[in-house]
Amino acid sequence: MSEIIKTEAVVLSKINYRDSSIIASLYSKDSGKMSVIIKGGRSPKSKIGMIVDPLNHLEIVFYKKESRDVQLLSGAEIISHFHHLKEDLERLKYAYAVIELVKKLSPENEPNVKIFKGIVRILSLFDSSNERPEILFGRFFLFFIEEVGYELQLFKCSVCGKDDLRNKILGYNYNRGLLCEDCKTENINNYEINPELFDYLHGLKANKSIQSVNNYTIKNANDFFENYLKFHISNFKGIQSFKAF
Ligand SMILES: [Zn+2]
Repeated sequence: MSEIIKTEAVVLSKINYRDSSIIASLYSKDSGKMSVIIKGGRSPKSKIGMIVDPLNHLEIVFYKKESRDVQLLSGAEIISHFHHLKEDLERLKYAYAVIELVKKLSPENEPNVKIFKGIVRILSLFDSSNERPEILFGRFFLFFIEEVGYELQLFKCSVCGKDDLRNKILGYNYNRGLLCEDCKTENINNYEINPELFDYLHGLKANKSIQSVNNYTIKNANDFFENYLKFHISNFKGIQSFKAF
């Protein structure tokens, strides 16, 4: 038995399949990450094949059969195709990094409406916000790390509990969390957290608007998140999308 499901989804990737079909990876509101086949999707007459394209936010209809790894997509309508974002290479680079993270690190068929809304929201911001895309990406990255279960510990020293940590050179131990100046000498320090990075991480965490931050610190934060995830998730080898741009 299969069930007809109507839901929203964001397209993560697509590949050609056999002579005329397409297989796409989607993140859907109803089922989380899932694979779908669009039969005849490469025909110029296939409207569905055209609009199932990475980054697009769609309303979809599919036949859900639990026993199948790839579901049959029977309908799709555009909700947004984020055309501003697609015209700007910097924004596009970071938007692809978002969908790459989602694709690599989300389990199949496990719905998470918060992640779904987070993806749609960040793509809308890449499309319309004036905030720098690398900061928007940092916001999503931190949110996503927490949602997949690896919340960063950023408020006090994880060893001695000291919480007066501003304006100091701190450390971070990927297993335990922050290390104050004293504790970082006696514990494994995986990443140095300078005062600028500390303040920026707190700004992201509180979802504050970020006025003055230098490019180095933004990049440093994104590197920190990437290294932290690589440490915890052994089959995550880092973000490849950055290399394609
Ligand atoms: Zn300490």
